[in-house]
Amino acid sequence: MTLDAPDLLQTRLFIDGAWRDARAGKRFRVDDPASGDTVAEVADAGAADAADAIAAAEHALPGWRALSATERGTLLLRWWRLIDEHAEDLARLMTREQGKPLAEARAEVSYGNGFVRWFAEEARRVYGDIIPAPAGDRRVLALKQPVGVVAAITPWNFPVAMITRKIAPALAAGCTVVVKPPELTPLCALALAELARRAGFPAGVLNMVTTSDAPAIGEVFTTDPRVRKLSFTGSTAVGKRLMAACAGTVKKVSLELGGNAPFIVFDDADLDAAVRGLIACKFRNAGQTCISANRVLVQDGIYDRFVALLCDQVAALTVGNGFDEGVRIGPLITERAREKVERLVADAVAKGARIRLGGRALPELGTRFYAPTVLENVDPAMALSCEEIFGPVIPLQRFASEDEAIARANATPYGLAAYFYAQGQARTWRVAEALDYGLVGANEAVISNEMAPFGGMKESGIGREGSKYGIAEFLEIKYVCLGGL
Ligand code: ADP
Repeated sequence: MTLDAPDLLQTRLFIDGAWRDARAGKRFRVDDPASGDTVAEVADAGAADAADAIAAAEHALPGWRALSATERGTLLLRWWRLIDEHAEDLARLMTREQGKPLAEARAEVSYGNGFVRWFAEEARRVYGDIIPAPAGDRRVLALKQPVGVVAAITPWNFPVAMITRKIAPALAAGCTVVVKPPELTPLCALALAELARRAGFPAGVLNMVTTSDAPAIGEVFTTDPRVRKLSFTGSTAVGKRLMAACAGTVKKVSLELGGNAPFIVFDDADLDAAVRGLIACKFRNAGQTCISANRVLVQDGIYDRFVALLCDQVAALTVGNGFDEGVRIGPLITERAREKVERLVADAVAKGARIRLGGRALPELGTRFYAPTVLENVDPAMALSCEEIFGPVIPLQRFASEDEAIARANATPYGLAAYFYAQGQARTWRVAEALDYGLVGANEAVISNEMAPFGGMKESGIGREGSKYGIAEFLEIKYVCLGGL
């Protein structure tokens, strides 16, 4: 991989405006999921480094929050422009460390940078209230103020967007930030930090600590009283643990956790659109997204036609190295991820599912590739109907009535994304309102963007990212009563 700007490949910790090694001098390896080759070795932070980062963020906070929203927004716009200028390098870094096809990596950089621009603008729209008072001699005000130092922990499936989606609103609100990027994809995160350095953010406003020991850093982030807010995206299991750990110092938390997205196709759906939507939503990032269709429910009347159309298109998808022309599906992130998909498919087959397409790993391509797969006869009790598959597998269930589809769709502790394809206003409203999900795509399956509120119900999370609501997560409301007037 060659970069136009080689100094975007940073491998150290970014603390207090400068690059430095971990105190213990340790490093860990980052590899290319397609080939298994080592891409780089990056600094391996320990608890003391995390504490340094928090101290820097704490020190920078008074100056940062005292700037005007326009000044903070202007710095964010400078960062946005630099990310845009270096978009191709960021996309190459992403495909190399994460594996997704280059076209998807480019799209993610653009999508991720959308949050920077959006929140640069939203910084100036943080309004308070003047509220009618209970007596004439006083005034009741509600001020919005930054929560303080924010800790962010992000996942590997969207190495750029999951970071910008947290950092941009936090900085816009006047918070300072410490970030622990994922150990599997730290390079995009560090490149973003380098671009932030060049944009001219004051020292300590943004800090980044890469580590191979996430629990050690998580412990510091969740227990240090100087951190006032934790924003986490990742698995539900880790999110619950972090939320419990935050209770000790009553930190605010925003959590974007796992999903188990239903994708419902009704008899009256536009089948071509439904197939297109399912393929876009399912095979993006090889199925490794928390809003990926995890259970596909198809109504009896169109089941056979839908499956035939679907299989024609799935069979045409090319799997391979994300840098190769025409590749639609890259490798899974790790061998463990591939083994998990194999385990889920084997469990389903043992319980009566039938493999219509794929259903196997692709060792001829490498150790982390899995064929796009269509499974029939899937039932709600199988493990892959209850767990996130995080792989390129479409499990098909049949249903008879709308009530049955909704009941089955909602029968999960998760509530992140749901999709359905149907015609007619009455059904569209009915189904959209009945689904217990934070995001609903009605006749559309690519629904995430910076303008819209993204977040889960139930065990899929707390809070929203993106949109005008996303910045509220980083603000406190302060009531001021002006008396004696
Ligand atoms: P995924 O299955 O997407 O890898 P994880 O929840 O394991 O989800 O990882 C998401 C992020 O959480 C990563 O940055 C990872 O390093 C971090 N992480 C994992 N375990 C912990 C932990 N115990 N404490 C803090 N962060 C953690």
